[in-house]
Amino acid sequence: MAFSLDTLSQRTQLIRTGCEPGPEREHNEAIFVTSSFVFDSAQHAAQMFNGEEQGNVYSRFTNPTVRNFERRLARMEGGAYGIAFASGMSAISTVFMSILKTGDHVVASSSLFGATLNIFTRVFSRFGIDVTFVDLADSEAWRTAVRPTTRMLYLETPSNPLCALADIASIATIARSADALLVVDNAFCTPVLQKPLVLGADIVVHSATKYLDGQGRCVGGAAVTNKKELHEALFSCLRSTGACMSPFNAWVFSNGLETLELRMHQHCKNAQKLAEALQAHPGIQRVHYPGLPSHPQYILADRSLNGFGGIVSFEMAGGRDAAWSVIDNTRFLSITANLGDTKSTITHPATTTHGRNTQQERDSAGISEGLIRVSVGLESWDDILQDIVWSL
Ligand SMILES: *Cc1c(COP(=O)(O)O)cnc(C)c1O
Repeated sequence: MAFSLDTLSQRTQLIRTGCEPGPEREHNEAIFVTSSFVFDSAQHAAQMFNGEEQGNVYSRFTNPTVRNFERRLARMEGGAYGIAFASGMSAISTVFMSILKTGDHVVASSSLFGATLNIFTRVFSRFGIDVTFVDLADSEAWRTAVRPTTRMLYLETPSNPLCALADIASIATIARSADALLVVDNAFCTPVLQKPLVLGADIVVHSATKYLDGQGRCVGGAAVTNKKELHEALFSCLRSTGACMSPFNAWVFSNGLETLELRMHQHCKNAQKLAEALQAHPGIQRVHYPGLPSHPQYILADRSLNGFGGIVSFEMAGGRDAAWSVIDNTRFLSITANLGDTKSTITHPATTTHGRNTQQERDSAGISEGLIRVSVGLESWDDILQDIVWSL
């Protein structure tokens, strides 16, 4: 019987699939830097364009390097179809364009990435799409917000930057009984820590810019689904609207996936140690991390996540001045809003990632002026701790 990689563990499959050598016998994947592909004849070209034959046509919608990344990510998420985009935001906005129309209603978490929240509050109103915001953690609130016109439920979990959690399985049940689609942004957990499709979500979206890359190099995004009709809708929208991923970025992300599991577990270990130490420190008012038993949803996190993630946030009693002073006093942490990097980063959400939101939006998301977010990198955790404690 022929040997098949399918018989091997997930970890092995992830590393060994998607890099079959071409005629040059390369060991790592080659990059297809080409905008278009040639055909055998005019008839062949016509067949490729009208879909009678499958294959590479034009890199806005068919590129082998991008396709490889899509397949590898889909496999990790437990999904049948992956589709890559120029950024996390283009993945998210293309999903919205593909499944929503005027008159539709959306139920969304009130704790969302700032740009996603802006689409809901500033863009949707122009297209006649209504949004109801609910508390991410309150499954009953999701149920009561659903209307006959509800087409989509949208959330990211754990939330940024406070790490509140959704019970994906129970919200998926609500979506199903309302005949609506559940879309989950899985950028914070990655499939290593959480697989929303397996828990009942219809579409997973990603900012590949974060942990999938893992070293803060490229901007990119992706969506994964098990439903053929949703994939076709996404593909046809991408083909027309054009927010495609570059082959170079796809190559970087594909390589990133090979070390994702290893990196995520180390991010989690470092974050756990840091969160525990910060919580014990008298100079800090409050620590938000799902791996702390003091976290209001610790039990749900422990049951549903395969690790508590790499984001820790904490509050200073002295408001903005105190928070800015800590950030400015750190010696090696990077002051940047990016996250999911090998290098630890520190940021003040109220004036950066959530600075374009209104005061009311920040209040309802619980983002205070004294709040600091750390994306815990892969340095020694005690060095990260010392840098923060020194800065207090
Ligand atoms: C960064 C981020 C996005 C947006 O992704 P880009 O790649 O920056 O466009 C969306 N959702 C979450 C949770 C993010 O962290």
